[in-house]
Amino acid sequence: MSETSALVLFSGGQDSTVCLAWALARYERVETIGFRYGQRHSVELAQRDIIRDKLARLGDVGKRLGPDTLLDLPALQSISDTALTRETEITFAATGLPTTFVPGRNLLFLTYAAALAYRRGIATLVGGMCETDFSGYPDCRNETIQTLAQAISLGLATPVVIETPLMFIDKAGTWAMASELGGDDLIRIIVEDTHTCYMGDRIHRHDWGYGCGACPACELRAKGWSEWQAQKT
Ligand code: ZN
Repeated sequence: MSETSALVLFSGGQDSTVCLAWALARYERVETIGFRYGQRHSVELAQRDIIRDKLARLGDVGKRLGPDTLLDLPALQSISDTALTRETEITFAATGLPTTFVPGRNLLFLTYAAALAYRRGIATLVGGMCETDFSGYPDCRNETIQTLAQAISLGLATPVVIETPLMFIDKAGTWAMASELGGDDLIRIIVEDTHTCYMGDRIHRHDWGYGCGACPACELRAKGWSEWQAQKT
């Protein structure tokens, strides 16, 4: 297993794009994986190729950015009843979990990613899970992720590392990290091309990028942007 390569869970959103840039700064060879499971904001997936192409033109990134894999997981749709996969309103359920929650989604994604990484001789997975802006997703917690890494390592009989560079930073910190990693060029790509909005809105352009401006994902992204702007001055 190669320790100089990594497989990044890359959705085309802001967080996973920063994770991809983070991995490209650390590993000689970086591959990406994405998942299609009938998510309503599938516009996010359409941005993946655009972002990869633009990143590949920054510095020597093109030499290190390896192939992309898009896996179809339609089974997720049949076990979820959420705003992401059906035309229902995004609200917060009595459990405190947003109705966008697909139970255990990250566990499934990481396990599929680990299987692909094994096939490709890659020992490190990189994901944008974050427990700071905790939106009620228990599968984003550090303890969950690191315990899963143990289970996967045992199950594959080879050490698998799961890196989560955003785990303990907030959204303002994610913008700051992007700026440190790739300066204005990377910030421009994140603003113009990464997609976060739950409503799939790519018409309304704000300082922080495209989105409806009202859904929880847009609110979080906008809040992080203004906090980062305030920190810079
Ligand atoms: Zn939105």
